[in-house]
Amino acid sequence: MYDVIVAGLGGMGSSAAYHLAGRGRRVLGLERHTPAHDRGSSHGESRIIRQAYFEDPAYVPLLLRAYELWERLEEETGEDLMTLCGGLMIGPREGALVSGSVASADEYGLPYEILDSSELKRRFPIFEPGPGTVALFEKKAGFVRPEVSVKAHLDRATSLGADLHFEEEVLSWEPTGYGVRVETALGTYEAERLVVSPGAWAPKLLSDLGLPLEVTRQILFWFRPEGGTEPFAPGKVPIWIYEPDDGNMFYSFPAIDGADTVKAAFFRADGKPTDPETIDREVHDKEIEFIRSYLARYVPSLDGDFLYAKTCMYTNTPDEHFVISTHPEYPQVSIAAGFSGHGYKFCSVVGEILADLATKCETPHPIDLFSPSRLAARG
Ligand SMILES: Cc1cc2nc3c(=O)[nH]c(=O)nc-3n(C[C@H](O)[C@H](O)[C@H](O)COP(=O)(O)OP(=O)(O)OC[C@H]3O[C@@H](n4cnc5c(N)ncnc54)[C@H](O)[C@@H]3O)c2cc1C
Repeated sequence: MYDVIVAGLGGMGSSAAYHLAGRGRRVLGLERHTPAHDRGSSHGESRIIRQAYFEDPAYVPLLLRAYELWERLEEETGEDLMTLCGGLMIGPREGALVSGSVASADEYGLPYEILDSSELKRRFPIFEPGPGTVALFEKKAGFVRPEVSVKAHLDRATSLGADLHFEEEVLSWEPTGYGVRVETALGTYEAERLVVSPGAWAPKLLSDLGLPLEVTRQILFWFRPEGGTEPFAPGKVPIWIYEPDDGNMFYSFPAIDGADTVKAAFFRADGKPTDPETIDREVHDKEIEFIRSYLARYVPSLDGDFLYAKTCMYTNTPDEHFVISTHPEYPQVSIAAGFSGHGYKFCSVVGEILADLATKCETPHPIDLFSPSRLAARG
């Protein structure tokens, strides 16, 4: 008998297992793949982290706690997990990206600078911004390393006593009078509480909730910039998101760890509905050409040799806000799903929230925005 079973040990589940084990709970973690694998949503070297949050100011308190917890995990493990190299949110002043980032920064008193297009070009010569373009620069933005940090959460959870099983898929779960029963191909387990954090498999493992989730296929591209990566070194270029006139936001990172490649991807464009069991992992010429057309226009030197690409999945809710809650019918079950392509930076704090929900059925963190009932209300 365990106190808590965690189903899915990716970004969110590995963190939940760590926090629960840290509170002295007897934890069983079940993961269908290997540790820190590349078949879900938490791989590809880097994930943007930022505080001025255009999606909604309600995320800011969670971000502040997420930063503290990433730092704590770095201290505990000695690993380099988060790099604060600064961040640029670039686009029209009235666009969703810049205006939303400014609004959340103002509401929470976060420091930032606004650069007009000539100042942006002067300080960061890789860009070719149009005349109406502005940029919000935030010093405390940067990136988190997904594979290393999933591994860090898993390793710490194990050292704190968690029992983690890999390549053991959860086939089903059901409430019992006092707790939960979980079936895998290898056995049946019982616990008082269950945390379900299945990423792109949420439509399957949380099918009873009928959440309106759409899984999309996303691509990460690596290019070798023309003229080399020197102008793309951390310190010269921060992370950035660019909102062009057509709204197809795309983003990139500095050349990390001295690499001769730079990663770029679309944030909200070109994501095709998919299924984690049948996703097409091959990247096609027309997809490479599509991102190239944006790089060529706005960051011309990044439109160099294409080297390789990886596929990944978003699990989107209709309003692009997360689902984090106790199960509406079974309070002994907590759920974390629908991270809509912007969840990674929050893994550290989502694990803490899930540990609160699994142990107390409530959390002091502000999670009203993430209630599944708002999605049911949308019909
Ligand atoms: C291309 C791309 C770029 C992104 N960029 C950013 C970014 O810059 N910043 C940011 O904050 N976020 C970003 N995100 C989003 C972020 O990565 C995700 O929100 C986050 O990784 C989701 O974590 P998760 O735990 O829900 O999913 P995952 O990490 O995929 O974990 C789910 C786990 O559950 C396991 N599982 C599923 N079903 C079962 C089962 N039945 N039994 C056992 N195990 C099971 C899976 O194998 C998997 O390991 C990006 C996502 C993608 C795809």
